[in-house]
Amino acid sequence: MTAQLAPEIRDLLLPGTLAWLDKPPLAPFIDGTWRPARSEDRIDVVDPGTGLTVTSYTASSADDVADAVAAARAAFDDGRWSELDAEVREEKLRHLADLLEADAGTVAQLEVLDTGKPLAEARLDIDEATAVLRYYAGWATKAEGSVIPAPRRFLATGTREPIGVCAAITPWNYPLPILMYKLAPALAFGNTFVAKPSEQTVLSTAYLAQLCATAGIPDGVVNVVPGAGATGAALTATPGVDKIAFTGSTRTGQAVMRAAAGTLTKVSLELGGKSPQLVFADADLDAAIDGVMDGIWTNAGQVCVAGSRLIVDRRIQDEFVAELVDRTRRRTLGHGLAPATTLGPLISAAQRDRVTALVEQAAAEGAHIRTTCELPEGDGYFVAPTVVTGARPGQTVEREEIFGPVLTVLPFDDENEAVGLANGSAYGLASAVWSTNASRVHRVSRRLRAGTVWVNTYGVFHPTLPFGGVKASGFGRELGSAAVEHYTELKTTVIDLSS
Ligand code: ADP
Repeated sequence: MTAQLAPEIRDLLLPGTLAWLDKPPLAPFIDGTWRPARSEDRIDVVDPGTGLTVTSYTASSADDVADAVAAARAAFDDGRWSELDAEVREEKLRHLADLLEADAGTVAQLEVLDTGKPLAEARLDIDEATAVLRYYAGWATKAEGSVIPAPRRFLATGTREPIGVCAAITPWNYPLPILMYKLAPALAFGNTFVAKPSEQTVLSTAYLAQLCATAGIPDGVVNVVPGAGATGAALTATPGVDKIAFTGSTRTGQAVMRAAAGTLTKVSLELGGKSPQLVFADADLDAAIDGVMDGIWTNAGQVCVAGSRLIVDRRIQDEFVAELVDRTRRRTLGHGLAPATTLGPLISAAQRDRVTALVEQAAAEGAHIRTTCELPEGDGYFVAPTVVTGARPGQTVEREEIFGPVLTVLPFDDENEAVGLANGSAYGLASAVWSTNASRVHRVSRRLRAGTVWVNTYGVFHPTLPFGGVKASGFGRELGSAAVEHYTELKTTVIDLSS
């Protein structure tokens, strides 16, 4: 099937992207081969920038999922990956990273067509995914064990062993990086893998599966089951999965955890957020305005760490918001592949409608709405960046994760009130403090209930920095050395030395 693309978009695509799109291997990838999905359920791949269906695929059924898990199980049990020397796993993962880097232009374009995000942002995603892969490739040879001080008669060791079959269920906002946070450590430590990408963004995961085969990662080590919630639910209910790493909404995370109880599968959950950015009057306001904008307009606010609540000293609120609105107006909404675009569309018509309805509800409840930027022509799913002032703490727009370009502003009169407002959320993923007062920075950072506190910056991700949430934002930390806990088991071996 030839990809359906707007002519002006087709003209912008690299030959490699076009070639791949004309024959995308969008099928379950099981034991090293693409197999026709055994269901009737067709899912469209839609370009959010135009609303056009690019291509479509058949969702993986529960039987396909069972086959993928069986393939991953067999690949684990016969040791074709876990029993390789760690240096060999490292080498293959580095080869995969080199292949991904070489194809970054194409993968970034696929990501734009799938997610709508501006090309420059997609390119950063691919670079980040590659960096995470290289970082964990290095870990393959570095997860050391210990000698445990047992009674003298014994020699006791603690060694790090792979868990077995690890599964990932991933969302549509950062398809490749979020997959890589899970896949890279899992493979480095010798586990095998089943990935279930979001139904709305399957292209980059399928591309990566193909690269895994080229990199010489043995068949059955990486399997992919494209599909929607039913495919994900099948994965959580299939025996033989030892660990599920989930990133997505809090509600679905709860469903995953409930299902995992049935099979006693370990879970880690990276869920939603409503992250506060606290701006004190003593901050470098110029930098803070840019930081707050990046925190909420990046990926059109469809970011789990979106800094969607600006909590600002009342004395500077008006000036700060006026300048922020002014600078936001200089951004350009458009198709992610158009060179001038700095802000893309939302992922789907449903998401656009949901975000728009939440803003309308806020207005009906008395909040003041400032929209910025012209909407482009056409049928893309665009929402103008929107700043909401005058909402009450706890009001829907201030409480709910919106996952769109909507910033709610709450003023405070003193530091205690600022911290109270910041922590007055069910979520606890990220937060930021903008201040030049060193004591205040330490005091406030310590009191914020969030997995990450950024100080005088926002949204810094790096392979070495553990990331995850507290409260309704989930549990478990991805990235950095924290992943050792998640993708290995600690084995205690006790040897009686007396015989
Ligand atoms: P959103 O609402 O933002 O799309 P979700 O949390 O529903 O986020 O989706 C995140 C991932 O979870 C996607 O890959 C989706 O297909 C998957 N998913 C949805 N429902 C379920 C479920 N019941 N069990 C497992 N995975 C699911």
